[in-house]
This record gives sequence, C-alpha cells and structure tokens, in this order.
Amino acid sequence: MDGAKGKRGEKGRKKKRDGWSSVMADVQMRDAETFAFQAEINQLLRLIINTFYSNKEIFLRELISNASDALDKIRFESLTDKSKLDSQPELFIRIVPDKVNKTLSIIDTGVGMTKADLVNNLGTIAKSGTKEFMEALQAGADVSMIGQFGVGFYSAYLVAEKVIVTTKHNDDDQYVWESHAGGTFTITRDVNGEPLGRGTKVTLFLKEDQLEFLEEKRLKELVKKHSEFISYPIYLWTEKTIEKEISDDEDEETHKEEGDVEDVDEEKETKSKKKKKKVKEVTHEWELINKQKPIWLRKPEEITKEEYASFYKSLTNDWEDPLAYKHFSVEGQLEFKAILFVPKRAPFDLFDTRKKMHNIRLYVRRVFIMDNCEELIPEYLGFVKGVVDSDDLPLNISREMLQQSKILKVIRKNLVKKCIEMFNEIAENKEDYTKFYEAFSKNLKLGVHEDSQNRSKLADLLRYYSTKSGDEMTSLKDYVTRMKEGQKDIYYITGESKKAVENSPFLERLKKKGYEVLFMVDAIDEYGAASLKEYDGKKLVSVTKEGLKLDDESEEEKKEKEEKKKSFENLCKTIKEILGDRVEKVVVSDRIVDSPCCLVTGEYGWTANMERIMKAQALRDSSMSSYMSSKKTMEINPDNPIMEELRKRAEADKNDKSVKDLVLLLYETALLTSGFSLEDPNTFAARIHRMLKLGLSIGEEEEGGGDDTDMPPLEEDRNEESKMEEVD
Ligand code: ADP
Repeated sequence: MDGAKGKRGEKGRKKKRDGWSSVMADVQMRDAETFAFQAEINQLLRLIINTFYSNKEIFLRELISNASDALDKIRFESLTDKSKLDSQPELFIRIVPDKVNKTLSIIDTGVGMTKADLVNNLGTIAKSGTKEFMEALQAGADVSMIGQFGVGFYSAYLVAEKVIVTTKHNDDDQYVWESHAGGTFTITRDVNGEPLGRGTKVTLFLKEDQLEFLEEKRLKELVKKHSEFISYPIYLWTEKTIEKEISDDEDEETHKEEGDVEDVDEEKETKSKKKKKKVKEVTHEWELINKQKPIWLRKPEEITKEEYASFYKSLTNDWEDPLAYKHFSVEGQLEFKAILFVPKRAPFDLFDTRKKMHNIRLYVRRVFIMDNCEELIPEYLGFVKGVVDSDDLPLNISREMLQQSKILKVIRKNLVKKCIEMFNEIAENKEDYTKFYEAFSKNLKLGVHEDSQNRSKLADLLRYYSTKSGDEMTSLKDYVTRMKEGQKDIYYITGESKKAVENSPFLERLKKKGYEVLFMVDAIDEYGAASLKEYDGKKLVSVTKEGLKLDDESEEEKKEKEEKKKSFENLCKTIKEILGDRVEKVVVSDRIVDSPCCLVTGEYGWTANMERIMKAQALRDSSMSSYMSSKKTMEINPDNPIMEELRKRAEADKNDKSVKDLVLLLYETALLTSGFSLEDPNTFAARIHRMLKLGLSIGEEEEGGGDDTDMPPLEEDRNEESKMEEVD
C-alpha cells in the first residue's frame, strides 16, 4: 500500500497501474470460478437493487463496520500470537474515491478472508437474518436496519452496479470476488494484483446517479455521522490543488521524474520558455477523518445525549436511539469504565437458542479484546449493549483465562447491579417502562429464575395484570399495598393467556372475598414464580394448586361447612371410584363458588399450564412428566346444583349409570376449564353429542356404546329430561 502520505498526479497514476485495474485485467485474463448466490441472498440483492430507498448512504457505515470487525479479529488473534501482524503491522481503514474510474474503495488491514470465507460469507450461506430482513423491508422497515440482520455487506448494491472484493488472509492466497449481483459471483486467485499484505479492499463501481459518494465533503460528513466512534483510524484519500511558481526547466524535470504536475496554467504556457511560471499542483494525502478518543473515557457531564445516541448506533447498528443508558466508572481496588445501553426493541432473534447473546464489548486499556464475552454479563441481560474498559486485566488475556478471572467476576457483579439501577430509572417513566417491559419482561423473569442473588430486586421490576389491575399492569409492591386485611399471601394463577385465566373457576372464591389474583400468563412465569416463592415476606400461592386455604370465616360458617363436607363424603368416594387413576383424590372445595368442580395439582408438582408447556417441548425427558404431572385432585363444589343432584342419585343407587357418565363428563370439562388438555377428545365429543341428543329428545340408536364401559348408554335419563336440563 501507499504510505500514509502520498503525492501523485493523474498521469502518474495511469503509469503505475493501481489495484482495481490490475484486478480487472486479471479477471479478464483468467478463468474465474463462478458461483450462484444462495436463493434468499439473491432475492435480497434483487430487492436492494430494485426497490427505491432514499437512504442509500448507509452502505458506507456497513462497509466500515465490517472493516472494523475484521480489524478487531486480527487484533484479538495477535494478542496471543504477535506474528499474525507481520504481514501488515498497521491497523487502519482507508477510503479511496476515484473520480476518473467512478469507484469508491474501502480498504482495511483486518483479518481478511480465505477463499472459503469468500464463498461462504459473501453469497452461498444465508444467515437467519436474510429472510427476516426482507420481511421487515416488505413490512415497511427502513433499509438502514440492514446491519442488525447481519447482511450489511449487500448494502453495497444500493449504490454500486458492480462490486469487487480483493482480500488476503494470513492462511491463504489473495483472492478476488466480483459480482454484478445478477444471480452469480466469481472468485479468482489474484496473481497479478497489487498485494494487500493482509486485509480486504472493497471496490464499488458506482451507479451513474450515485457519484456524490466520490465527493470528499460528502464522505467526511458520512463518516462523522455514522462511523465517528470506530476505534481504528479512518483515512480518506484527499486531493488538494495548490498554485506554485516554478521555472520552466524545473517544470520539465518534474514531468519527467515524477509525473507530478498537471494542468499547466494555459496563460503562462505560451510565454517565454526561460521565465518562471505558475502551475497548479495536485497533491494527495491521507487525511484522518475520525476522532478516536473513546467516548467512555470522557466525563459524562461533558457528553451530550446525541453523542451517546450516536455512539450507541455505531456500536450496535441500531437505527433508533437507545431507550436508556448508563455511563459510570468504578474506582478503587479495581478500575473500569463502562457504558451500558438498553435498546428500544428486542432484536428479532432474542431467544434464538443457537445464538448466545452477550452484547458487551470488552476493552483492556483502550484495546478491544472481544465481544460476546459470556463471563461479563449473565445471559438474561444479553439484551443490554455496551462497552467495558478494564485497567486491571492483562492485554493478552485468552478466553480460558477469562473464565477463571476473579476481576471479571467483580466486573460482572457491578454490571448487573448497574443494569438493575438503569431499569429502575426507566421505571420512573411509565411510557418508557411499558415499552421496556414489552420487549424484555421475559429476560427479567429469566433473571428471577436464575439469579438468586438479585432475585428480590428483579422481582420489584415485574408487572402483571390481575383481577384488579384493569388495563394497566401492577407491580408486586402495589399488589401488597392493596392486600385485604387478614390476607396473608399473594395469589396468582398461571395459564396460557389473560383471556384464558380471567374467568377461571379457580378465581371464584377469591374474587368474592375481594382478594386480588395476579395473572401469570407467560410460559416463563411458571419458573419465575416457582423460584421467587415469596415477595416482601409474603408467600406466593398458586390458586390452582392443592392446599389453598382462605381461612377467615366465622365459627358458624366453618361449622356449616364441615357439615356440608361430611354430607358429600360419600359422593367424593363414588367419584374417585369412577375416575380411578385419573385423579389422586376427590375433595370438597374451598375455592369455587359457581362451577361444579375443578382439578388442582399438587403443591410441588406441575400446574396445568406447566404441563402444557412441557408437552410442547418435544425433546423433554418423558419420565419426568409422568412423575410431575400425574397428581391431580378433583375439588367439587357442594353448593352447585349439579353436585347436589349427583349426590342424591349416588345415594339412591351407587351404580346408577347416569352418575358414572355425568362424573366422566364433569371430569373432562374440568380438565378444560382448569387448563389441561383432553387426552381423548373424541370420547369427550361423543359424550357431549349423546347429551345433545338427549336434550333434543332424539332417540339413541340401538347399536351404540354397548361395549364401552366408560360410556354407558344414557337410557335411564330419557325419561328424566328435567334433570338433564341442569347439566345443559
Ligand atoms: P455481518 O458483518 O453482519 O456478519 P455482512 O453481510 O456485512 O454481515 O458480512 C458477511 C461476512 O463477510 C462477515 O461476517 C465477515 O465474515 C465477512 N466480511 C465482510 N466484510 C469483511 C471485511 N472487510 N473483512 C473480512 N471479512 C469481511
């Protein structure tokens, strides 16, 4: 490459064939290997080329960001093996506009790509983001979001009709990738091209209407706007024209030796040969166009909100400002500085299990070490983005050392603390917190489940709908302030959705007593509630589990109840006999008011909702489920007329077939209203149809049901339509 400062005229440039033209020659000369773009990538390219986007300038940010990533990679590799830098010791990014050839090149001395990298990364392997990005675009998203989806390179085709990527990796020869984006790309070994040493040069052959991107002013403005915080020097190849007085002789010499002077002043050209004359001299130099002092080293009070936002964007490729940020330093025995950000939205792949997310970049004394550092932040805070710069870690730290590092453990603890502080600050603004909670409540709940040390602090951040919350969610703290006199516990119900639980039979008694019940309707709530156990000294009690006690009745009421319970003891026995292993036991309920019965689960076993969640996990261990899910208790409501009628019939004749059929039907409907799924929906449906026929007085056909012991024909009931009405 050229030195940091260069001086070359147009004539000279033509003489010394530069990178792109040799590449051209080479590509034309040799048989290039042709590859087809993977179908989705091809689709993406077509979309980029054929759809109108006004915001094309973002291509430069994307290419600079790729260059910076590549530089990060080689710098990290060099920490453990210095010789990796031998091929090119300097780390920088260079931008070269070439008005003559209408090309713009972005050059980096990063890690480069091997031939295989070129094939895989630039065209044949689609990332998960490819499809998502196209969908987002079609749904009206802005093209500037491209970086978030991991397909930023292709934004080059917003402004270029052809792109050539020349690249050199330490482990391979120099290669050239080239494409017009018309379905294919070619790869050629670069034998004659200018050697890069190490790194990548992306040359864009600009479309005729995109030549503004050759203007220095525009390029400087773009780097300032989008790439100011890149931590490598970005140099722009700039052109300066100065007027100089020289003698004719000198002039000729210069022409001969350097080919450096051009545009001889026409007026002077005609004058006497021996006289001095003025010439315009064009000089070129590399101008550094980004400030490099890291923002986290500056004082927070001197940094504007806009600067934080712009740093956040350059760090994350996000197109929106962050929702919140926190800039702090820790001093004393251990010193580090950090800036943390909460994005406005969850990324599209927040809980993609194939991809672990850790979005804090680790620096050691200003030197970037790595991103995606698992030891720095727990998984549930993976959505928090930012930087940490430590003064205490060694520069040549390896991933293995990081796992052991006590320093890192302390940093991590501090980061978690600061994150929670930041969330509490967001909570001071209702609107912001709603946004935050929508995007990241699952993370908080995962935190409650996993992070026992911070569990109670995280619990303060939780919000739920409840029987009393109306349209807004409530915090546990607010719930506690609303607790009724004599109410000891915090009640909650888990289920699939707010709709599915708000009219659940389990809520009947509690509602009547004025006790508030929280709706926990996220799958993860099952885990969260189980780990939380209590809040503010109050037990969290599931209203669908066994052992729910609401004992605030008068002695008289209790007595009355006991008597009623007794009178239903026999029915409980009969029902248990009929249901057999389907239920563990049958008892008289304390919690239902209107419904005839419900099914509760053991205090320590799974809830119905958990059973549903576990069934949905295809790869779970099935031995666990039989152990955890089998303990159902049927609770019956002695005040319900159906139960009263059943009791009478069972007392009259224990083997009354209608009793058996009704009990089974009640059991099956209770499965549904209690949030379980039916094991055999067809039998259930057949039973219902039979009931319908009865209700409609349609005669049962003779052959039906004779050999099904669970489903005796309902002959006896035909003459007792009035009783069946209660069932309807
Ligand atoms: P992303 O950078 O988000 O992974 P891109 O589409 O921008 O997605 O780039 C695809 C891949 O191509 C990168 O992951 C990287 O491996 C490779 N790549 C792109 N530009 C460069 C570069 N300048 N140097 C080295 N590798 C690069």
